[in-house]
Formats: sequence, C-alpha cells, structure tokens
Amino acid sequence: MIITIDGPAGAGKSTVAQLLAARLDGMVLDTGAIYRCLALQARQRGVSPADIDGLVEMASHLDVRFETISGQVQPVVLLDGQPVGDAIRTPEVSQDASVLSAHAPVRAVLLDLQRRLGHSADVVVAEGRDMGTVVFRNAGAKFFLVADPVERARRRFDELTARGRSVTIEDVLAEQQERDNRDSQRAVAPLQPAPDAVMVDSTALTPDQVVERMFEQVQRTMED
Ligand code: C5P
Repeated sequence: MIITIDGPAGAGKSTVAQLLAARLDGMVLDTGAIYRCLALQARQRGVSPADIDGLVEMASHLDVRFETISGQVQPVVLLDGQPVGDAIRTPEVSQDASVLSAHAPVRAVLLDLQRRLGHSADVVVAEGRDMGTVVFRNAGAKFFLVADPVERARRRFDELTARGRSVTIEDVLAEQQERDNRDSQRAVAPLQPAPDAVMVDSTALTPDQVVERMFEQVQRTMED
C-alpha cells in the first residue's frame, strides 16, 4: 500500500511521514531528499542548477538509497553509498533543489527511481510535492498537508538553529516563500493537492494529532 503526503515546505511532512510509517510498520520515501542529493552532487561537481543536460546526465546515474536503522525513525540518506547527513539540508541546497526540480527532463529521469523505491516495501509513506498527482496516482490514501506560513517558518527556524545554523526568522520566511512560489508555479508537476487528497491543516495540531487523523483515514480506506 502506498500513502502519499504532499504539501509546502515546513508543513511537517517528514515528521508526520516518519511517525505514520512507524505506526503502520512501513517505510518512508522522502522524495525531497532525492532532489536534494542531486542538488548537492551538482554543487560538488560544479554543475549549475540551470544546466538541464548536465543534470539529466547526473540524475540518470544518481545512486540514492534510504537505510532504516533499527530504533531510529528517520532513515539515513545514502548518496553513492555514503550518508549525506545535514549536507542536503542547507538553505543553499534547498534553493538549488527547488530550481533544478522545475526542469521537466530532470523530473522525468527521477520518476523511475521514485517508483522503484516506492515499491520496495509492503507499506510506503511517500512524501513530496507531486506524490498524489504524478508519481503515485493510484495511491491507497492521499493527504495534502498545509500550515500557516509563519508557523512553518518558525518550525524550520527552530530546526536549523537546533542544528547550529545561524539564521534569522525573516530569512527563513523569505526563503520559504521563494521556494513555495517556485514549486507551486512551475509548469511541470506543480505543488497542488490531488483531487482525491484529504486536506490536513497542521497549524494548530501536534505531529501526533496529525498522524492520528491520517491513521484513522488510512484504516477507513483499508476497510472499504
Ligand atoms: O521536501 P523538501 O523540502 O526536502 O524538497 C526540496 C525541494 O525538492 C522542494 O522545494 C521541491 O522543489 C523539490 N521537490 C519536488 N518534488 C518532490 C519533492 C521535492 O519538486 N516530490
């Protein structure tokens, strides 16, 4: 069974996807991490996020895997067999990932990889921007997770400062706005809810409350 969670940056998709996957004894597929790995590799190799041919070539050989460590909810992201850690979570890599993910040929190459990874376990919770609309159109349950932009920026700010990054909340909000606009307005696979997605607003909810709602919905779907 595939469950999709789409939504803008900072809505809580990763946290919720991990908790839901743990509850369903399934695997998380963090597709943003795939775009981020491509962005990181492009930086390392001096390939511009505007160089479509260079990116397509790199994407077709991209070796990204997710390793689940027992007792740990968050899977380890491996690029060429090596853990990438926080190197894919910097604001620079976030922006590059958003820029390069707007190229249709790049997305087309990464589609196969995502679908292959999505079928590598019995239960997969796939999170991203186009899981329910493009990558897993036949998913068993689809969610679109939103939250107030200021609340999303505050969460992201807390996350970055906890990791020792020196940022201001204004910068985080501006970066988020730029990324949301680009992700929503691009021509290919824009960020938008699938017609059959259940909308969840996480602004005033804890991650556990969001997961509870999703879990109940998944159970209803399975009973149907
Ligand atoms: O979800 P995350 O913030 O890690 O994603 C990083 C970027 O990758 C997003 O801003 C978006 O541009 C891109 N992305 C995408 N489609 C997905 C997942 C992520 O375009 N399914």
